[in-house]
Amino acid sequence: ASIFGAIDMAPRDPILGITEAFNADTNPQKTNLGVGVYYDDEGKVPLLNCVRKAEEVLMEQRAPRTYLPIEGLASYDKAVQELVFGADSAVIQEKRAVTVQALGGTGALKIGADFLKRFAPDAQVFISDPSWENHRALFESAGFTVNNYTYYDPATHGVNFAGMTAALEAMPRGSIVVLHACCHNPTGADLTAAQWEQVIAIVVARGLVPFLDMAYQGFGSGIAEDGAVVRKFAATGVPLLVSNSFSKSFSLYGERVGALSVVAASHEEAARLLSQLKRIVRTNYSNPPTHGGKVVAAVLTTPELRQLWESELAQMRVRIKEMRDQFVERLKLKAPGRDFEFVRQQVGMFSYSGLTKEQVHRLRDEFSIYAVDTGRICVAALNSKNIERVIDAIAKVL
Ligand code: PMP
Repeated sequence: ASIFGAIDMAPRDPILGITEAFNADTNPQKTNLGVGVYYDDEGKVPLLNCVRKAEEVLMEQRAPRTYLPIEGLASYDKAVQELVFGADSAVIQEKRAVTVQALGGTGALKIGADFLKRFAPDAQVFISDPSWENHRALFESAGFTVNNYTYYDPATHGVNFAGMTAALEAMPRGSIVVLHACCHNPTGADLTAAQWEQVIAIVVARGLVPFLDMAYQGFGSGIAEDGAVVRKFAATGVPLLVSNSFSKSFSLYGERVGALSVVAASHEEAARLLSQLKRIVRTNYSNPPTHGGKVVAAVLTTPELRQLWESELAQMRVRIKEMRDQFVERLKLKAPGRDFEFVRQQVGMFSYSGLTKEQVHRLRDEFSIYAVDTGRICVAALNSKNIERVIDAIAKVL
């Protein structure tokens, strides 16, 4: 028999499966709240003006497409490091942080996971319950045992903080703990600043290895505010990994722009880490693509473009908040007696709406409104044109 003869069909990606069903739906009123993408009020994925302007300059330069260094474009890595840690950060001044350009946030997590497996092969990985569904798969495919830590509380639609701290306290020393820096996916439930302080204290005391995943910087309270937790972790001096993504914040999903940053104890240690990270990149895809990195580097380092980006990102953030407000206010009228106030407290693109699987299926079958079976909705897919219909339908299935 051929070597391929016995291969099973792999399970379908649950979220991409929703989009396939949505695409096949002929109802002109259909709405897809199952996605993980920001749409503007016209229901379109925006091309940010800061990106368009940076691309116009790049087009004029007509630069040859040589290879980038293994670790990526130097100006990009530097700009990302300053964005993630703050330009005045001690880890930058002391040259203790290394940053490699990565293929989106996913690529950053993958490089980080392979790196950790190589140098901490016996560590266990802990991810939030629930988490972005690819976290488990990524770390398992790197060879780790992946466990959950308590996170979401369905009763309050917020964080079960007592459960989370108890879980952290019980982890074996040296465990790798994956934390969402802001805008938790899929729940939208984030820790308060005071709760972060407690988490950091436990991570430090118990010798855990924090891996902060920041895919939505700027979608919560602001660029600096959302990045604050990274800076707090960096200030502790513990070994730290940070994956970040510009897929959402630059609306550059398909360009695959992200980065992995690792904080070391000294500059000399950082140099050794970088050499190993480069080896992982080299044996996976050799070096990252140029376009997205050049665009992001240009925007981050050109004052006018930077300002434009910050204002365009603020517009996205404000529009999502507006949709949260409308969601709550409209449901108050259509479903009196039901309390959806928690949707306003949740942050980022997503909300665990509390809708049950049965309700999600009725929304799909009766109204062509698509959400994830867990009740996760993408608030950023709501707009002034579809929200009334969505709210009416939700009120009917409650
Ligand atoms: N981490 C989280 C929490 C995410 O939600 C996502 C994707 N939406 C990623 C990482 C990966 O981002 P990217 O699309 O840039 O690979």
